[in-house]
Amino acid sequence: MNTTDTTDTAGASKPAALGLGPALGPGPRDTWRALPAGQQPAYPDPAALRRVTDELAGAPPLVLPGECDRLRDRLAAVARGEALLLQGGDCAETFDRVSVDTVHSKLNTLMQMSAVLTYAVSMPVVKVGRLAGQYAKPRSKPTESRDGVTLPVYRGDAVNGPDFTHGSRVPDPERLLRMYQASSHTLNLVRAFTASGRAGLSQVHEWNRDFIAGSPLRARYEGIADGIDRAMNFMRATGARPQDFDDSEFFVSHEGLLLDYESPLTRRDRRTGRSYATSGHMLWIGERTRDLDGAHVEYFSRIDNPIGVKLGPATTADTALQLIDRLDPDREPGRLTFVVRLGVDRVREVLPPLVEKVTASGAQVVWACDPMHGNTLEAPSGHKTRRFDDILGEVRGFFEVHRALGTHPGGIHVELTGDDVTECLGGGHDLGFPDLFHRYESACDPRLNRGQSLDLAFLVAGFLDD
Ligand code: PEP
Ligand code: MN
Repeated sequence: MNTTDTTDTAGASKPAALGLGPALGPGPRDTWRALPAGQQPAYPDPAALRRVTDELAGAPPLVLPGECDRLRDRLAAVARGEALLLQGGDCAETFDRVSVDTVHSKLNTLMQMSAVLTYAVSMPVVKVGRLAGQYAKPRSKPTESRDGVTLPVYRGDAVNGPDFTHGSRVPDPERLLRMYQASSHTLNLVRAFTASGRAGLSQVHEWNRDFIAGSPLRARYEGIADGIDRAMNFMRATGARPQDFDDSEFFVSHEGLLLDYESPLTRRDRRTGRSYATSGHMLWIGERTRDLDGAHVEYFSRIDNPIGVKLGPATTADTALQLIDRLDPDREPGRLTFVVRLGVDRVREVLPPLVEKVTASGAQVVWACDPMHGNTLEAPSGHKTRRFDDILGEVRGFFEVHRALGTHPGGIHVELTGDDVTECLGGGHDLGFPDLFHRYESACDPRLNRGQSLDLAFLVAGFLDD
């Protein structure tokens, strides 16, 4: 089916040509309701939820079908081995941290990582933020007890508040509207920033030069930065102007966890009859909600966005193949990304049979490495943390497995922030356990800070060059 043609027999200038049609009525988008949906909040007042979902059903889409199709095309190139995916952002965004500074620093960080990786692989890098909608978290337990008091667990700002009080922890559907607003504000900043032309290649490279100058590992990074300098000089010599070279195309993604939020924002593109989650360009299903018979797989099977599925270390090749049958029955490159999060100790053992059997089935999925969620540990202080070397080690294992199989290591999916937080151990500045007390701000899992994120990009670039 042609998904990029925007002409409309009724006239391209009509609103329908932009895919701005009204939401579907009860129909395909509601088929998930008959199935068990894991990790959904227990809202105390169904009428209040209904008012909110009605409002969302009438709200404008945050992204348009054509943009989702474009990302799908970009991811098809990744699936074919012609591009790399870089997906990153907070574990959990929070309403109080939507600001120009936080959004810009996250974007800058991803742009800087992307410039380094583009150079290392000599391929375009598809940049997808874990942002503008990453407000809901699956949790391992439904409740939390402190000093004999038991309350619902914090499930992300889209559901309840982090404070350990009854008032804060009761799920409040009004928060779904705040999620929509916060996502809209964030997306507005993303669009303004990427349209500003301020993140051109030479500017991004200058930022990388500044980072290297202050890094204890600068001797290891200078070779790559010099290589980028030479490549830019070459471009200038041919008459190209790297300062004008704009590689800031940027997409947004989040875990599609809360079906009461996603469902009313699902819209049908009148041109094509295809349905889209309009809350973000790409949505993924988490490791805990990817049951083949569950509501999430059913909902995702009805939308045409590019989608991801997280795969943990217990995933069998059969499960992966069944997920493909449900979610990518036509085996279209760009539709499905498997985000594998296996742990540094397991990646070399678990990944090869998955990749081999999926490849043998004829499916062309994107393989992305999430080196965060299989490497979480508890510090003596009780902080949830991760070691930079484990994260780097899992990425290395992921690339080695693909190299040995002759398949394409499609990309990486990381939890990061552009701020100088102290949540993960190690990295260029070698953070230790005592540093976790300085600036631990994550609402959920520990994120790479700005420097650690750039360390990761430079070190991955280094071993890709080997
Ligand atoms: C996450 O990405 O924050 C997450 C909860 O991951 P997973 O579903 O892989 O556990
Ligand atoms: Mn997380």
